[in-house]
Amino acid sequence: MMTQPTWNDPDFDAGVMVRGALWLVQEIGVGNTFTKADIRVAFPSASQADRRIRDLRDYGWVLHAKNEDATLTSEQTRFVAQGAAVWNPKERSDANPRKAISNKEREATLSRDDHLCTTCGISGAEEYPDDPTQTAVIAVSRRVTVMPDGREESLLTTECKRCKAGLGKSRRSAEKISADVQALSADDQARLLRWMNTGKRDLTATERVWSRYLRLPADARAEIRSVLEA
Ligand SMILES: [Zn+2]
Repeated sequence: MMTQPTWNDPDFDAGVMVRGALWLVQEIGVGNTFTKADIRVAFPSASQADRRIRDLRDYGWVLHAKNEDATLTSEQTRFVAQGAAVWNPKERSDANPRKAISNKEREATLSRDDHLCTTCGISGAEEYPDDPTQTAVIAVSRRVTVMPDGREESLLTTECKRCKAGLGKSRRSAEKISADVQALSADDQARLLRWMNTGKRDLTATERVWSRYLRLPADARAEIRSVLEA
């Protein structure tokens, strides 16, 4: 783990946002307040230092102004909580909510996940079994994941829009799901248990082909379909 640089170390090559983050931690301290005048004293040569420091909110830093904390004057800002350690380039990059996903990363993620939602298993353009009025839209997104050692990583994952948004319209009832599990055949129950143990759905050859079939243009799908119907 990278040690924390000193905010005003002249040998530390960093922009005002990063220096500002260190200044907050090292000079102001969580719970305390600062003013624009304090920022001007700390960063006399930076033109928009107060704006750069507000940019830290995009990295999970909590800074309250008067409209969020009525005990403050209009000049004051309170440093409420520290966010990502932006002085560490990897943590900064991982935490950046606007960090674009490259086409190469997107393709690699979709291919790894078989173009299926990793949460509910649906394919793009497939109807939801519990809501046939909706068809799935698949996208790659970043998921901040807490790793076993407690470090947070932003990992790429394939998800349908409904799973990304939450749980969709259906309410989750463990009681109902338990009854549905009981109603499965012994073979299906064994398969389900395998999924539970591995944490993911193992796809049958049919499901893999189905997912790839759905990604074909309509004309190509029609040709494949006509071969089976023949
Ligand atoms: Zn899904």
